[in-house]
Amino acid sequence: MPGVDVKLVLRSTRVVTPEGIRAAAVFVAGGEIEGVLPYDAVVPAGARVVDVGGDVVMPGLVDTHVHVNDPGRAEWEGFWTATRAAAAGGVTTLLDMPLNSLPPTTTVGNLRVKQDVARSKAHVDVGFWGGALPGNVKDLRPLYEAGVFGFKCFLSPSGVEEFPELDQEQLARSMAEIAGFGGLLIVHAEDPEHLAGAPQRSGGKYADFLASRPRDAENAAIAHLIAQARRLGARVHVLHLSSADALPLIAEAKREGVGVSVESCPHFLTLTAEEVPDGATEFKCCPPIREAVNQDALWAGLADGTIDCVVSDHSPCTTDLKTGDFASAWGGISSLQLGLPAMWTEARRRGHSLEDVVRWMSAGPAALAGLSRKGAIEAGRDADFVVLAPEESFTVDPAGLQHRNQVTAYAGKTLHGVVRSTWLRGTRIVADGVLAEPTGRLLERNH
Ligand SMILES: [Zn+2]
Repeated sequence: MPGVDVKLVLRSTRVVTPEGIRAAAVFVAGGEIEGVLPYDAVVPAGARVVDVGGDVVMPGLVDTHVHVNDPGRAEWEGFWTATRAAAAGGVTTLLDMPLNSLPPTTTVGNLRVKQDVARSKAHVDVGFWGGALPGNVKDLRPLYEAGVFGFKCFLSPSGVEEFPELDQEQLARSMAEIAGFGGLLIVHAEDPEHLAGAPQRSGGKYADFLASRPRDAENAAIAHLIAQARRLGARVHVLHLSSADALPLIAEAKREGVGVSVESCPHFLTLTAEEVPDGATEFKCCPPIREAVNQDALWAGLADGTIDCVVSDHSPCTTDLKTGDFASAWGGISSLQLGLPAMWTEARRRGHSLEDVVRWMSAGPAALAGLSRKGAIEAGRDADFVVLAPEESFTVDPAGLQHRNQVTAYAGKTLHGVVRSTWLRGTRIVADGVLAEPTGRLLERNH
C-alpha cells in the first residue's frame, strides 16, 4: 500500500522541485523521497508532519570541490569541522579533493587511509576524488574501481610538493588512461609558461598579485585541454573558472560535442578585485578573483548555461599562512558554510531565482559526479534538504563559522538566506544552528 512506510512528511508553500517552486508535501520513507504530493495530501498514519510554512525547501547542496586536508594537514581543516560547516551551510554532500592531505588520494591504499579518518566524523555524505600525478598512471584504474569519482590534476605547480603537476605529455597519458575506462578528469587549468612570463612581485598590493595570474594563463590552458579532450575523446572538467575570456571557447567546444564541463565558485561570482584591500590575503586564491567586468561576464556564462555548476573550492589554512604578502600567503578561500547565502545574495540582485541556484549548486554538481541519488526533490532520491529563509539576512561573523580556521573573505558582509535546518536522508542534522551527531556516509562512485 503506498505511503505505508512514510515516516516523515515535510510541508512547505515553497518546495523547489524539478518542475518549479510550488506548495507541496514531501513524503519520506527509509531516508528516501517517496513522493512529492500536493500540500494538503492526506498524511499516512504514524507519519510525523513538519510544516515549515513559507520557508523554502530545496534539495541539499552538493559541493564537489572541497579541500578537507585530513589527515596530514588537519590543523587547516578536518572531516569533523568541514562536515559541520557543510551541514550548517546547507551542503549535504561533499567531495574531497585529493591534495593537501597527507597522504594525497593517489593510490587505493591512500584512499583507504582517508576513508578511515573520515568515517566517524562525517556529518554529511562524503566522497573522494583521486589524483593524477606524473608517476601514478597505473594507480588510476584501481582507484576508479575502489570508488573515487574521477581524477584531479594540475598543469602548473599545485602549492604542495607531494602533488606535482602534469606536463602536456603526461596529461595526454593520464587522460587517455582515464578515457579508456570512461572516467572524468578534472583540471586546475593555468598554463605554467604564461604564469612564468607574468610579472612576479611580492608584497601586499592586490593589483600585483592579479597581474601575476593573468587571464591568458587560464585561457591558454583551457584551449590546450579542450584540444587534448577532442583528440582523445575524453571527458574533462575545468575547475574554478575565473577568466570569463575562456567562456566562448568552452561554449564552442560544447556545441561541437567535446566532453567538457566547467565550474565557477562563489568568490569569483560575488567578490571583485576592486574591493580587495591591500594586504588582505584572505582573498587570495589561484586563479584569482578578477575585476567586476569579468564577474559580469561569468554571470552571463551562468545564465546561458555555459557554466555547469558553482562549488566552493573551500581551501582553508591556518591563520599564520595568511600573511600580508600576496606572493607567499597560502592561496585558498574558505566558504563551505557561506556559499549558499553568498550566491543567493548576488543571484537575487541579478534577477535569478532559487531554482537557478539549485541548478548550479545541487543538480549540476550531482550530475557532474554521477550522484544520481542527490540533487533534486523527486521520488527515488535521498531525502536531503535545506530549509531556507531566503528573505532574511545576517551579517557574517567569523566566530560563528564551523570551519576549523575562521579566516574568511566574507567577514562583515550582509548576506541573504538563513539556513533554518538541514536534513540528511530524512533526519534533521542541523536545526537553527545546532548540529546533531554525525550520520554522514562515505560515498563511492555508482553506489
Ligand atoms: Zn581546489
